[in-house]
Amino acid sequence: MAFADNISCPACGVAVESVSAHTRSMQCPHCGNWIYLSGSGWSSAGSFTHALDAPSMLRVGRSGVLSGTAERPRNLTVAGRLRLTYDGGYWDEWWLEFEDGNHQWLEEDDGRYRLHSPVSLSADLAQVKAAGVGSQLLLDNKNWFITERLDATLAGSEGALPIAIQPNEKITCLDLMGSGEKLSLEAGSLDVTVSRSEKIAGSLFKWHN
Ligand SMILES: [Zn+2]
Repeated sequence: MAFADNISCPACGVAVESVSAHTRSMQCPHCGNWIYLSGSGWSSAGSFTHALDAPSMLRVGRSGVLSGTAERPRNLTVAGRLRLTYDGGYWDEWWLEFEDGNHQWLEEDDGRYRLHSPVSLSADLAQVKAAGVGSQLLLDNKNWFITERLDATLAGSEGALPIAIQPNEKITCLDLMGSGEKLSLEAGSLDVTVSRSEKIAGSLFKWHN
């Protein structure tokens, strides 16, 4: 696991130790404020707690093993989560930190799970925000058709996350299709994440704690 230098919380000034080099947003363990990394360094976004829970098998800090996917069984820890709301309800995205140094998002929607694998394609944020269903989006010289768009609001988060996000930020979620391949894209005000996802059963996780 890679660690960045220790940082000082911009809200309370206390040093935050052992921050993973992937982390771009986190809850300060000392004052509880949500802090995020932007071009001008670490900033405080104030207090930001996630909405009340429906029961989930996942929780920040829980560790276990994921087996039964295309990869060999892998140990993991749940590092953080965010909650997205939209007109029709909400879903959660959990940031899983694997022992082998890899990270993946796990989407949880009413007991159904999708495991996301990152794809390193870059998108123009302004184009993403303007993109409509049926139009095309350029990712690294290739056009992708937009098959679905959902505008969600970041309603809560906890733990540590790999994206710089702030409370109540609008998140644009797109489903993309190109050459028979499907991708998911999520864009906040600072970061765009592109991934490929697969459905997995919750029973593939065995928890240690
Ligand atoms: Zn603090």
